[in-house]
Amino acid sequence: MCPNCRISAVYYPTKSIFHMPEMKVKCDNCNYKFDREPGYFLGAMYISYAIAVFLGITTFALLYFLFPNLSFNWIITILAFVMIIAAKKNYKLSRIIYIHIFPK
Ligand SMILES: [Zn+2]
Repeated sequence: MCPNCRISAVYYPTKSIFHMPEMKVKCDNCNYKFDREPGYFLGAMYISYAIAVFLGITTFALLYFLFPNLSFNWIITILAFVMIIAAKKNYKLSRIIYIHIFPK
């Protein structure tokens, strides 16, 4: 959602699960420019890292405490699978959170 008008989407609809999400240059509704300067979204990397760490710790804790007989190798395998599945959502979410933190 656009941080200025909160109406239009920031990303184009994804073509398939194998394509990376593509961000629009400007908002369709209010012409707000999303990528304002080169390297603007570098800060979104920290948000992405925080989300990934939170997801990793939460997944590990759930697997460790809900399935006590599960071997450590299986926990790591499932954890890696969850992290790979969530990577695309994490990428989009971290950028959207970042432009809402620093909108101007
Ligand atoms: Zn807008």
